[in-house]
Amino acid sequence: MEPKKERTILHVDMDAYFASVEQKSNPLLRGKPIVICGNPEGRSVVSTSSYEARAWGVKTGMMLWQAKKACPQVILIQCDPDKYVETSLKLHRIYQEFTPVVEVFSIDESFLDITGTERLFGNPLQVAKRIKKKIKEEVGLTCSVGIASTKLLAKLASDINKPDGLFWLKDEKVPGFLKDLSISEICGIGPRLTFHLNKLGIHTCGELSRYPVELLENKFGKVGIALHRMALGLDEGPVLLAREDEKVKSVGHSITLPEDTYNLETAKKYLLSLCEQVARRLRRKYYKGKTVFLFIRFPDFSDFSRQKTIIKFTDDDREIYQSALSILEKINIESLGLRLIGVSVTNLVKGTDQLSLFPDEWRKQILLAAMDKVNDRYGEFTLTWGRLMYQAKPVSILTPAWRPDKHVKKFKFALDFPQRS
Ligand SMILES: [Mg+2]
Repeated sequence: MEPKKERTILHVDMDAYFASVEQKSNPLLRGKPIVICGNPEGRSVVSTSSYEARAWGVKTGMMLWQAKKACPQVILIQCDPDKYVETSLKLHRIYQEFTPVVEVFSIDESFLDITGTERLFGNPLQVAKRIKKKIKEEVGLTCSVGIASTKLLAKLASDINKPDGLFWLKDEKVPGFLKDLSISEICGIGPRLTFHLNKLGIHTCGELSRYPVELLENKFGKVGIALHRMALGLDEGPVLLAREDEKVKSVGHSITLPEDTYNLETAKKYLLSLCEQVARRLRRKYYKGKTVFLFIRFPDFSDFSRQKTIIKFTDDDREIYQSALSILEKINIESLGLRLIGVSVTNLVKGTDQLSLFPDEWRKQILLAAMDKVNDRYGEFTLTWGRLMYQAKPVSILTPAWRPDKHVKKFKFALDFPQRS
C-alpha cells in the first residue's frame, strides 16, 4: 500500500508573527515585551506575544490582565489584520519564487512542496536557507523551517529549533524522533482526542503506533486508521494550492460584551447590532441564508448554541434578528448572564452577481486564513466563514484545517463526550 515517490516538503512558520510584524514596523517596540490583542481597553486575550514578553511568562490565550500581571511593563498593541495580510502576501511571493506548489496553512504558516527543485536551487537545506535569508532581507522577519517527506513531519520539524530555526527531519530519523513524542504534538490530534487516547493508556506516538490498529478502528472508525498512520509519520496529504472554489459557509459576527450583563434588553441591543452587521455583510457579498445560528458564552465560560431555519432565504436584518431573538428569549439571561454573543447565517446561496473581492485566489486564501486566525484568538472578533459553526457543532475529531487523510474530515465526533449546553 505504501507509495510512491519521495517528496520534499518545507513547513515555514513565522516566529511570533503578529508581534514581529509590529516590531518591524515600529522600531520603538523592538526588544520590548509586547502583546497583540483585540481591543487593548477591552477584555480580549493575548493573540501573539513577542519573545521578550514570553520570557515573562506571557502566553497566547491569556486574558490581558493576566499578561499585565505576569509582565507589568508589557505594551498592548491592537491587532491590525490588514498589515499582517499584506506581509503574508510578500511572504507568499517569496515562496513562489522557489515552487509553485505552496499551501497557505494559516496566515503565518505555509507548506512548500519543493520536490524536484534541486537542480535549480540546491538541496532542501540550501533551499530552506535561501528562503530564510530572503525573508530576513526583504521582509525583515525570522521564521522557522522544517523539512521532511510529509506535511505532518515537516510541521513537527519546524518547531524543533524555533525561533529562527531550521531542521531537516530525515526519514531514517523519524522512528526515533516519534518514539517519545507526545501525541498532542501532532497537528490534528487536539485536546479531546488526546483525552480519549490517554484513557487508553496512549501518551506517545510510539505507544500509539504499537496500539493494535483494529482496536483503534473499533473505537474511532476511520480516524483510528488515520491515527495509526499519523503515529508513524505517514501522511500522503498533498500540499494544497489555494482553491478558487473555497466556498463561504457562513457569515457572522460576535462580540464579547464590555462587561457581563444579566439584562435581556441589553442583550437584545447587542443582538440587533450583530444582525445588522451580518445582514450588511451578506448583502455586500451577494449572499442570502436560510439558517440563523446563535452562539452564547456565559460568564462562567460555558457555551450555548442553537440554530433556527427560516422559511425563505434572506439577507434582511430584521428577519435574521427575529429568528435569533426567538432563540435568545428562551435563555434565562437574567440568571445565567451573558459574556459573549454571536450570530451567524448559514445555509447560503449566492446571488447572480459575481463575487470578486480579491484580485487572485491566493490573496483570498491568505485573507481567509487571517480571518480564521484572528477569530480563533480574540475574545471579540469579526467572524466570517463559519468559525462559530466549528465551535458549536459536533466537533470534527481532527482539527478541521488539517487533513492528513481525506477520510478524516468526514468523521464526526461521535463519542460519549460530555456536551455543554
Ligand atoms: Mg508562527
